[in-house]
Amino acid sequence: MKRAIFPGTFDPFTIGHYSIVMRGLNLFDEIIIGIGVNISKKTLFSVEKRIEMIEHTFRDEPRVKVQSYNSLTVDFAQSVDAGFVLRGLRSVGDFEYERSIADANHKLIGVETILLFTESEYSYISSTVVRDLISYGKDISMFLPPN
Ligand code: ADP
Repeated sequence: MKRAIFPGTFDPFTIGHYSIVMRGLNLFDEIIIGIGVNISKKTLFSVEKRIEMIEHTFRDEPRVKVQSYNSLTVDFAQSVDAGFVLRGLRSVGDFEYERSIADANHKLIGVETILLFTESEYSYISSTVVRDLISYGKDISMFLPPN
């Protein structure tokens, strides 16, 4: 069984995240979306709300699961017996960051990171942009996944 974790903050989960998970399902048997909880990082949506929204999005896809974790990503990967970390790449900025984390994670437990390039129509979408739009009362439905 090829199992991957898709770690992130997902505050909130956007159509860009959704696209990475859906494409990841062509590569993996199961994807566990891991909501990393960092008590010093203030978020707009509570962990419970983020879990609820993501579970609702994937309610018809039994191969996608959602969990929160408050440990190192490698410890989370090990705890759910995942051999892969799935991440999305939007820009060169993302690349440098992802490479350093991927190298460290590989050295620590031998986990492989699989990076998927974002689809170009979603490359500008980030949780930060969506949160800003919410704070100005704008309609954000076009940035959210179906369901
Ligand atoms: P983090 O705080 O770990 O960056 P995010 O929730 O912002 O968490 O992102 C989780 C993952 O989703 C990261 O790999 C990020 O690059 C990817 N991602 C974010 N937005 C998009 C997008 N629009 N298209 C593709 N991947 C994305």
